[in-house]
Amino acid sequence: MGKIFELINRDTKQKNESKRMTVLIRQLLLMFIALSLFHLFIDISLLKSLQGALVWVAMLVVDAVTLLASYNTSKRFILAIFIIQKTGWIISSTLMFGWESGFQYFIILLMIVYSFGEAGYTKKKLFFDFFCFTLIVVFLEVLKGEGGRISIENADKSIQVFNALAFVAMVAIVSISFSKESQQMEDKLITYNNQLKEQASVDALTGLYNRRSTMEFINRLINEKRVFSICIGDIDFFKKVNDTYGHDFGDTVLVAISEVMRNQVLSYGLVSRWGGEEFLIIFVDQNGDEAYVNLSHVRDTVKAIKLNHIKDEVTVTMTYGLTEYDTSKSFEENIKDADEKLYMGKQNGRDKIVY
Ligand code: GH3
Ligand code: MG
Ligand code: MG
Repeated sequence: MGKIFELINRDTKQKNESKRMTVLIRQLLLMFIALSLFHLFIDISLLKSLQGALVWVAMLVVDAVTLLASYNTSKRFILAIFIIQKTGWIISSTLMFGWESGFQYFIILLMIVYSFGEAGYTKKKLFFDFFCFTLIVVFLEVLKGEGGRISIENADKSIQVFNALAFVAMVAIVSISFSKESQQMEDKLITYNNQLKEQASVDALTGLYNRRSTMEFINRLINEKRVFSICIGDIDFFKKVNDTYGHDFGDTVLVAISEVMRNQVLSYGLVSRWGGEEFLIIFVDQNGDEAYVNLSHVRDTVKAIKLNHIKDEVTVTMTYGLTEYDTSKSFEENIKDADEKLYMGKQNGRDKIVY
């Protein structure tokens, strides 16, 4: 079973093209082979028609050859072969077994396969649809509602039902295959778009949200009429860290602090990189007092970070300006408030929260 599945799904030798169309044609060919075997059996056992049986043997050979060809040719080629040989199949079997046999259903299958399988080329598709319509009219005219060359009287019901079943199953396979494909493409696009959005909204070094996405987030909170607090935190004497241990080590410190703050705030808010060594924390659904408690934990966690530089153990502190967001004031005024508190903290010895 697994081997059959592998054979149906095997890639073509053609590079740079999706195998989806080829796989679909292989599935249809296998169903046509089963259908031909059924008709071969009916022709031998019930219709007792050698001519009919020979037609089905010929069809089986053509399908087998097409199936083999699907492993070595391009999808456009195999689609063309499929459409051409099946058009011949429909014409000959309808003329042979008459309108009642139901072989003409498969014209609609061809229209669907061609229309989905051939990218673009609307004119070609319309031309093909017109050709199919002509074929139906010609059949009606030639057959005049009568039987074909071979009488199917002995098995008309089973032939009609089996052809209808095969037709419905094939249309189902084609539509499932194409709707799955377009759904997967849509999902892929949504994921890709989210990734793009994410890349545009996070800071490259720390992976934290950047200024733009933070402002979007705050606007959303304001629109939703939520209570929230904001805090600007700035690393103390960071210049000295850079000067003493180098800029690269400074970056390592920034990354470590970001990681710790993000984890700490994850469940109730958002941290962003507001500037070089400045962070903005948003405490969602928290008034100033509540935010103060959580911010104290953030402060403790940051202070507890220990980074090794050769023989030195480096620790840092931060100063924070916390304010409950006042929606009657502008965004800039709220930020200014937090900034002024931060400045006061820096003036008064650093490593503190000013609220
Ligand atoms: P204060 O306690 O008053 O905040 O002192 P400070 O030295 O931290 O303040 P200052 O604003 O004078 O210096 C901030 C330094 O942060 C200057 C800059 O070199 C450094 N810095 C800003 N962005 C980055 C960065 O992305 N990587 C590194 N390594 N350093 C940065
Ligand atoms: Mg600064
Ligand atoms: Mg600083």
